[in-house]
Amino acid sequence: MPELPDVEGFRRTFARHAANKTVSRVEAVDRTMTRKTSPRSLARALARRRFRDPYRHGKLLICPTGGPALVLHFGMTGSLEWSSGEPRHRHDRLVLVFADGELRYRNMRKFGGIWLARDPKALESITGRLGPDWLEVSPARFRERLGGRRSSIKAALMDQKVAAGLGNLTADEALWQARIDPRRRVSSLDEREEATLYRKIQKVLRDSLPHGLVPAKRSWLTGSRDHRGGSCPRCGTRLERTRIGGRTTVFCPREQS
Ligand SMILES: [Zn+2]
Repeated sequence: MPELPDVEGFRRTFARHAANKTVSRVEAVDRTMTRKTSPRSLARALARRRFRDPYRHGKLLICPTGGPALVLHFGMTGSLEWSSGEPRHRHDRLVLVFADGELRYRNMRKFGGIWLARDPKALESITGRLGPDWLEVSPARFRERLGGRRSSIKAALMDQKVAAGLGNLTADEALWQARIDPRRRVSSLDEREEATLYRKIQKVLRDSLPHGLVPAKRSWLTGSRDHRGGSCPRCGTRLERTRIGGRTTVFCPREQS
Protein backbone atom coordinates (compact mmCIF):
# COMPACT_ATOMS: atom_id res chain seq x y z
CA MET A 1 0.00 0.00 0.00
CA PRO A 2 1.46 3.36 -0.99
CA GLU A 3 2.76 5.34 1.99
CA LEU A 4 4.84 8.52 2.09
CA PRO A 5 8.00 6.95 0.58
CA ASP A 6 6.00 5.36 -2.27
CA VAL A 7 4.19 8.59 -3.08
CA GLU A 8 7.54 10.35 -3.03
CA GLY A 9 8.61 7.85 -5.70
CA PHE A 10 5.51 8.71 -7.77
CA ARG A 11 6.35 12.38 -7.32
CA ARG A 12 9.77 11.74 -8.83
CA THR A 13 8.17 9.86 -11.75
CA PHE A 14 5.81 12.77 -12.37
CA ALA A 15 8.64 15.32 -12.07
CA ARG A 16 10.83 13.38 -14.51
CA HIS A 17 8.22 12.81 -17.20
CA ALA A 18 5.48 15.42 -16.88
CA ALA A 19 6.75 18.55 -15.17
CA ASN A 20 7.38 21.51 -17.48
CA LYS A 21 5.60 19.71 -20.29
CA THR A 22 2.26 20.39 -21.92
CA VAL A 23 -0.34 17.66 -21.70
CA SER A 24 -1.94 17.13 -25.13
CA ARG A 25 -5.03 15.29 -23.88
CA VAL A 26 -6.41 13.52 -20.85
CA GLU A 27 -7.93 10.12 -21.60
CA ALA A 28 -9.47 7.05 -20.03
CA VAL A 29 -10.60 8.79 -16.86
CA ASP A 30 -12.50 6.34 -14.68
CA ARG A 31 -15.77 7.92 -13.63
CA THR A 32 -15.82 6.04 -10.33
CA MET A 33 -12.49 7.55 -9.30
CA THR A 34 -13.14 11.25 -9.82
CA ARG A 35 -14.03 13.21 -6.70
CA LYS A 36 -16.12 16.39 -6.99
CA THR A 37 -15.38 16.53 -10.70
CA SER A 38 -16.21 14.47 -13.77
CA PRO A 39 -13.95 12.86 -16.36
CA ARG A 40 -15.17 15.41 -18.88
CA SER A 41 -14.48 18.52 -16.78
CA LEU A 42 -11.15 17.11 -15.67
CA ALA A 43 -10.06 16.44 -19.24
CA ARG A 44 -11.21 19.87 -20.41
CA ALA A 45 -9.54 21.68 -17.55
CA LEU A 46 -6.16 20.02 -17.99
CA ALA A 47 -5.85 19.67 -21.78
CA ARG A 48 -3.05 21.82 -23.20
CA ARG A 49 -1.97 22.91 -19.75
CA ARG A 50 1.66 22.91 -18.80
CA PHE A 51 2.45 21.09 -15.55
CA ARG A 52 4.73 22.64 -12.97
CA ASP A 53 6.78 20.78 -10.38
CA PRO A 54 4.63 18.32 -8.43
CA TYR A 55 4.75 18.11 -4.66
CA ARG A 56 3.43 15.83 -1.98
CA HIS A 57 1.36 16.37 1.13
CA GLY A 58 1.23 13.16 3.13
CA LYS A 59 0.00 10.54 0.68
CA LEU A 60 -1.47 13.09 -1.74
CA LEU A 61 0.37 14.00 -4.92
CA ILE A 62 -0.39 17.53 -6.07
CA CYS A 63 0.37 18.39 -9.69
CA PRO A 64 -0.14 22.09 -10.36
CA THR A 65 -0.43 23.78 -13.73
CA GLY A 66 -0.58 27.52 -14.31
CA GLY A 67 -4.30 27.14 -13.61
CA PRO A 68 -5.93 24.12 -11.95
CA ALA A 69 -4.07 21.39 -10.08
CA LEU A 70 -4.51 17.65 -10.45
CA VAL A 71 -4.54 15.85 -7.10
CA LEU A 72 -4.04 12.09 -6.81
CA HIS A 73 -4.47 9.69 -3.92
CA PHE A 74 -3.18 6.17 -4.50
CA GLY A 75 -5.33 4.27 -2.03
CA MET A 76 -4.27 0.66 -1.51
CA THR A 77 -2.92 -0.30 -4.93
CA GLY A 78 -2.27 2.86 -6.91
CA SER A 79 0.85 3.81 -8.88
CA LEU A 80 2.06 6.08 -11.66
CA GLU A 81 3.53 4.47 -14.76
CA TRP A 82 5.30 6.16 -17.64
CA SER A 83 5.00 4.51 -21.02
CA SER A 84 6.22 5.42 -24.47
CA GLY A 85 4.45 2.73 -26.43
CA GLU A 86 3.32 -0.21 -24.30
CA PRO A 87 -0.40 -1.03 -24.49
CA ARG A 88 -2.56 0.46 -21.78
CA HIS A 89 -3.52 -1.61 -18.76
CA ARG A 90 -7.11 -2.31 -17.78
CA HIS A 91 -6.47 -0.77 -14.38
CA ASP A 92 -5.33 2.57 -15.82
CA ARG A 93 -7.81 5.06 -14.35
CA LEU A 94 -6.38 8.25 -15.87
CA VAL A 95 -3.98 8.78 -18.75
CA LEU A 96 -2.09 12.01 -19.39
CA VAL A 97 -0.99 12.04 -23.01
CA PHE A 98 2.21 13.93 -23.88
CA ALA A 99 4.04 14.26 -27.19
CA ASP A 100 6.63 11.66 -26.13
CA GLY A 101 4.54 9.20 -24.13
CA GLU A 102 1.85 8.71 -21.53
CA LEU A 103 1.73 8.99 -17.78
CA ARG A 104 -0.78 6.52 -16.39
CA TYR A 105 -2.42 6.49 -12.98
CA ARG A 106 -3.03 2.80 -12.37
CA ASN A 107 -5.14 1.55 -9.51
CA MET A 108 -6.49 -1.97 -9.32
CA ARG A 109 -8.66 -1.77 -6.24
CA LYS A 110 -9.82 1.79 -6.83
CA PHE A 111 -9.38 3.16 -3.34
CA GLY A 112 -8.01 6.69 -3.35
CA GLY A 113 -9.21 9.20 -5.91
CA ILE A 114 -8.66 11.90 -8.50
CA TRP A 115 -9.46 15.54 -7.72
CA LEU A 116 -9.27 18.73 -9.73
CA ALA A 117 -8.51 21.82 -7.66
CA ARG A 118 -9.42 24.86 -9.73
CA ASP A 119 -7.87 27.38 -7.34
CA PRO A 120 -5.93 27.56 -4.06
CA LYS A 121 -9.14 27.57 -2.03
CA ALA A 122 -10.32 24.33 -3.64
CA LEU A 123 -6.88 22.82 -3.00
CA GLU A 124 -7.07 23.89 0.63
CA SER A 125 -10.42 22.10 0.96
CA ILE A 126 -8.67 18.86 -0.07
CA THR A 127 -5.40 19.16 1.85
CA GLY A 128 -6.83 21.11 4.80
CA ARG A 129 -8.30 17.96 6.33
CA LEU A 130 -4.77 16.59 6.79
CA GLY A 131 -2.21 17.38 9.42
CA PRO A 132 1.23 18.65 8.37
CA ASP A 133 3.33 16.42 6.15
CA TRP A 134 5.55 14.08 8.18
CA LEU A 135 8.76 15.41 6.67
CA GLU A 136 7.79 18.94 7.74
CA VAL A 137 6.54 18.32 11.25
CA SER A 138 8.79 19.35 14.17
CA PRO A 139 9.12 17.33 17.40
CA ALA A 140 7.20 20.03 19.31
CA ARG A 141 4.40 20.09 16.75
CA PHE A 142 4.18 16.28 16.87
CA ARG A 143 3.79 16.35 20.65
CA GLU A 144 1.21 19.09 20.43
CA ARG A 145 -0.83 17.23 17.81
CA LEU A 146 -0.70 13.94 19.71
CA GLY A 147 -1.83 15.61 22.91
CA GLY A 148 -5.24 14.63 24.20
CA ARG A 149 -5.70 11.68 21.84
CA ARG A 150 -7.41 8.77 23.52
CA SER A 151 -6.55 6.14 20.96
CA SER A 152 -3.65 3.73 20.87
CA ILE A 153 -0.37 5.15 19.64
CA LYS A 154 -0.53 3.02 16.48
CA ALA A 155 -3.97 4.38 15.62
CA ALA A 156 -2.78 7.94 16.29
CA LEU A 157 0.20 7.52 13.95
CA MET A 158 -2.10 6.22 11.21
CA ASP A 159 -4.49 9.14 11.70
CA GLN A 160 -3.64 11.55 8.87
CA LYS A 161 -5.06 14.44 10.89
CA VAL A 162 -2.19 14.13 13.40
CA ALA A 163 0.46 14.30 10.68
CA ALA A 164 0.13 13.04 7.13
CA GLY A 165 2.02 10.28 5.33
CA LEU A 166 2.45 7.33 7.67
CA GLY A 167 0.83 4.04 6.76
CA ASN A 168 0.74 0.58 8.24
CA LEU A 169 4.33 -0.38 7.39
CA THR A 170 5.99 2.87 8.43
CA ALA A 171 4.01 3.03 11.68
CA ASP A 172 4.83 -0.57 12.67
CA GLU A 173 8.47 -0.18 11.68
CA ALA A 174 8.98 3.03 13.68
CA LEU A 175 7.19 1.62 16.77
CA TRP A 176 9.34 -1.50 16.60
CA GLN A 177 12.55 0.52 16.19
CA ALA A 178 11.48 2.67 19.16
CA ARG A 179 10.56 -0.46 21.19
CA ILE A 180 7.07 0.86 21.93
CA ASP A 181 4.01 -1.38 22.18
CA PRO A 182 1.61 -0.30 19.38
CA ARG A 183 -1.39 -1.01 21.66
CA ARG A 184 -0.41 1.53 24.30
CA ARG A 185 -2.61 4.54 24.88
CA VAL A 186 -1.12 7.80 23.62
CA SER A 187 -1.44 9.29 27.11
CA SER A 188 0.81 6.57 28.58
CA LEU A 189 3.87 7.68 26.59
CA ASP A 190 6.32 9.89 28.42
CA GLU A 191 8.27 12.73 26.85
CA ARG A 192 11.36 10.61 26.23
CA GLU A 193 9.35 7.90 24.47
CA GLU A 194 7.62 10.46 22.26
CA ALA A 195 10.99 11.95 21.35
CA THR A 196 12.40 8.52 20.47
CA LEU A 197 9.35 7.66 18.43
CA TYR A 198 9.56 10.95 16.53
CA ARG A 199 13.23 10.30 15.72
CA LYS A 200 12.57 6.76 14.54
CA ILE A 201 9.68 7.85 12.32
CA GLN A 202 11.90 10.45 10.64
CA LYS A 203 14.65 7.87 10.24
CA VAL A 204 12.37 5.21 8.74
CA LEU A 205 10.95 7.75 6.29
CA ARG A 206 14.32 9.16 5.27
CA ASP A 207 15.89 5.70 4.87
CA SER A 208 12.91 4.66 2.73
CA LEU A 209 12.80 7.70 0.42
CA PRO A 210 15.58 6.64 -1.98
CA HIS A 211 13.86 3.24 -2.41
CA GLY A 212 10.44 4.75 -3.19
CA LEU A 213 8.98 2.24 -0.70
CA VAL A 214 9.58 0.89 2.79
CA PRO A 215 12.46 -1.52 2.12
CA ALA A 216 12.29 -5.09 3.48
CA LYS A 217 15.76 -4.82 5.05
CA ARG A 218 16.86 -7.88 7.01
CA SER A 219 17.60 -5.71 10.03
CA TRP A 220 14.10 -4.17 9.91
CA LEU A 221 10.75 -5.46 11.08
CA THR A 222 9.52 -4.91 7.51
CA GLY A 223 11.96 -7.60 6.32
CA SER A 224 10.38 -10.22 8.62
CA ARG A 225 6.77 -9.24 9.03
CA ASP A 226 5.41 -11.07 6.03
CA HIS A 227 6.95 -14.44 6.87
CA ARG A 228 4.57 -16.71 8.76
CA GLY A 229 6.24 -17.48 12.06
CA GLY A 230 8.71 -14.66 11.39
CA SER A 231 10.95 -13.67 14.26
CA CYS A 232 12.21 -10.34 15.56
CA PRO A 233 15.43 -9.36 13.73
CA ARG A 234 16.81 -7.95 17.01
CA CYS A 235 16.06 -10.59 19.63
CA GLY A 236 14.72 -13.62 17.73
CA THR A 237 11.38 -13.71 19.54
CA ARG A 238 8.49 -14.85 17.38
CA LEU A 239 6.61 -11.79 16.10
CA GLU A 240 3.03 -11.28 17.15
CA ARG A 241 0.10 -10.02 15.10
CA THR A 242 -2.95 -8.13 16.16
CA ARG A 243 -5.44 -5.76 14.54
CA ILE A 244 -5.47 -2.08 15.36
CA GLY A 245 -7.83 0.26 13.55
CA GLY A 246 -8.67 -2.57 11.17
CA ARG A 247 -5.07 -3.06 10.09
CA THR A 248 -2.71 -5.96 10.74
CA THR A 249 -0.16 -4.83 13.28
CA VAL A 250 3.08 -6.75 13.79
CA PHE A 251 5.29 -6.30 16.82
CA CYS A 252 7.84 -8.01 19.07
CA PRO A 253 6.04 -9.14 22.25
CA ARG A 254 9.29 -9.19 24.19
CA GLU A 255 10.69 -5.74 23.41
CA GLN A 256 7.46 -3.86 22.76
CA SER A 257 5.50 -4.39 25.92
ZN1 LIG B 1 12.52 -8.37 19.67
